[in-house]
Amino acid sequence: MTQRLHYGMKAQMGKCTTSRVHREDSKVDPLEMLRFCATIHPVWARVMARHPRARVLAFADDGFVRASLAECLHILAELKVAFKEDTKLDICLPKCKIYINGLTLADAREEVHQIVEADPALFGLKDIITTNDDPAKNVVQVDGMVCVGVPIGSPEFVQAFVAEKSKAMVEDVKKLQLLTDPGVHFKLVSYCHNTRLSHLSRTLPPTTMANPACGIQTVDYAVVNEVLAKGTDNRSALWGRAAMNWYRMTAQLPHHEGGMGLTPQRASGIAAFYSASSTFVGWLAQRPHRLQWLRQGELDDPGTWLTGPLLELTHTHKTLLQDYKCVEAAPAANAGVADADNGAQRAASPLSLPPLNLLHKQHQLSEEEIGAGCVLPLQRRVTGQIMSHWGPHATAKAEPPSARCQHLRMLHRTHTCIATSSTDDGEPGHSILQHDMPDQEDPDCPEAKKRRLKHAGAAHMSCLAHEPVKKEEWEAWFCQFLGEPIPALEKLARARSVCACGRHIIDAYGDHVHACKQHTGSRKAAHETILDAIEAICRKAGITTERRNIPSVQKRRNKRGRGDLVLKNVNLGGHRHLVLDVAVNHEFGGDNLADVSRNGALRDAQPARILENTARTKVARYRAGYAAIRHAFLPCVLSTSGRLHGEFLRLLYIIAHRRTTRWFQRHSNDEPSEDAFKFRRGQYFWHTRAAIGQAAARAVAQRVHVAEHTLRRHRVPSNVQDDLAYPATVH
Ligand SMILES: [Zn+2]
Repeated sequence: MTQRLHYGMKAQMGKCTTSRVHREDSKVDPLEMLRFCATIHPVWARVMARHPRARVLAFADDGFVRASLAECLHILAELKVAFKEDTKLDICLPKCKIYINGLTLADAREEVHQIVEADPALFGLKDIITTNDDPAKNVVQVDGMVCVGVPIGSPEFVQAFVAEKSKAMVEDVKKLQLLTDPGVHFKLVSYCHNTRLSHLSRTLPPTTMANPACGIQTVDYAVVNEVLAKGTDNRSALWGRAAMNWYRMTAQLPHHEGGMGLTPQRASGIAAFYSASSTFVGWLAQRPHRLQWLRQGELDDPGTWLTGPLLELTHTHKTLLQDYKCVEAAPAANAGVADADNGAQRAASPLSLPPLNLLHKQHQLSEEEIGAGCVLPLQRRVTGQIMSHWGPHATAKAEPPSARCQHLRMLHRTHTCIATSSTDDGEPGHSILQHDMPDQEDPDCPEAKKRRLKHAGAAHMSCLAHEPVKKEEWEAWFCQFLGEPIPALEKLARARSVCACGRHIIDAYGDHVHACKQHTGSRKAAHETILDAIEAICRKAGITTERRNIPSVQKRRNKRGRGDLVLKNVNLGGHRHLVLDVAVNHEFGGDNLADVSRNGALRDAQPARILENTARTKVARYRAGYAAIRHAFLPCVLSTSGRLHGEFLRLLYIIAHRRTTRWFQRHSNDEPSEDAFKFRRGQYFWHTRAAIGQAAARAVAQRVHVAEHTLRRHRVPSNVQDDLAYPATVH
């Protein structure tokens, strides 16, 4: 008999299962599970020492043994006694699985029966032959078994397992429809649902997962469809093929590419398998007993790899090189080129993968090998590389449903500003914060090498900080993000409702409402939302703010005006107090009367110019006046697409820096290591931008709210005598 046999084990302890030990105690202490593993390890070790030919893997209450059938049964019997005597743990025999391949079920059961009957040492195992009404619950299996959530067995068994999981997920994601808060809905889909396959993806090869019968694609579609349906009030069901492809891509692209970050599992799964398998090779190479696990071949010679997972790794490596344009590092060939320090250059160059024969020595690479790019890249970088060459997106990109969509993609991509701008006063890009930036640079540093601050308008979607979101507000923001008609405005646009200004009809995209000065109520609410957010982040950094009694200053034409918010005692921009003034720009035209074709079109091919112009107008209006009363003035300009003006972004960075300093001071650590400080500051800067991003999204939704009573009524023609003919006008 040569068949290989496996069994999975669930240990149970009296009334309290070890699974409960995990669930309850691990909430108290994450190390509890490791403590449990350390406790049972000697029991496993003692039993296995008597069976040197068998292999076992165990974690927590799950164990996996690979051996001949007779040996397997002996190990099980011995473990049962050992666990009972040493730790008072019961192995629950009916929950064990014995997988025997190459036999029919009847033969396999007979085989087990004979071995157990013939050996008195195995009498304790008699129960395992009992049959169950549900065949999947029988101990003896011939198709496969599931160990630690991973199916092992025939391709059909594995496929059926994944297909069942996919089907359940597609059904589950639909159940989330009943959530009334669309923000919570998005986060549940994104964090809890779109990640459910990760464990399987790391373990099962991409060739298996890509099989249409497994249904991974249906999961990817279901996830995106739910999000699109929720955000558009189900209008997504009416889209044509090109529009659907495009918006699906928008949902799937990462934030820095202007997407919502719902990475398709089919793409991230390839990176997951590659990373997990490559890391495993490196890990196995460091184990003293590796040859007992890898019975054929050498880890440092991929030509000798014969086992399934290693062959799949070879195949995935080739796919990454051929289909996803990664390059294989060649330590000898480009040893000199590698130390190029230019970030932009490095980002543009294709992702370098270590050659397969260097995976086993990742922990001891030489300087040259590291320099040549032989270090295993982070999994997310592999995912990024796959996504940038993702086939379905290439198709979608070829057919944009509208010019607006294309413009929005450009607007939503990560944009940057130079952290410390030394441009002269009066020149574009001048910064009053240049002497306040925490990391001073060499003033002669060439422009291309200067440090830059980055911002992606959509990144706030991944922020877990949450305030309740109303359905209408979510839809208004979501549809503007996509470039689709806003459901609430669509009705008005269809009825050709006239704006309060009496000069324009309300359009469904919100362009006129954003541009028109008449919607003061909505505009004020939006303004307050952003101010609230700025105040909240200031408070976290220990900065006192003042929203009332802001000193007014002389503007032009003898008018007086004031900013929105004072940051007290901040010593920024050359003065003790800093006055902020918030402005929101819209990047599309909406109130052009002379040339109506400009309505709905992008106002400037360089969106940064729109923000800069508004900022300069504000500066011209207020800065000198405030300087006269010894206050600094800073405009905080943002756009409806979520872009931030450079000075605003710099201010947020300074606030994040101060919050970090305060955190370390509060924890009595005045001299944190540079790494610790930068790590925390990075986190705070991210959260600060996300908080502003969330507020901006809400403000953008609030701004397009049109109160019914502000609309102009259709005038009744004067020659009509009978009002009843126009019931709509009778009140
Ligand atoms: Zn108007």
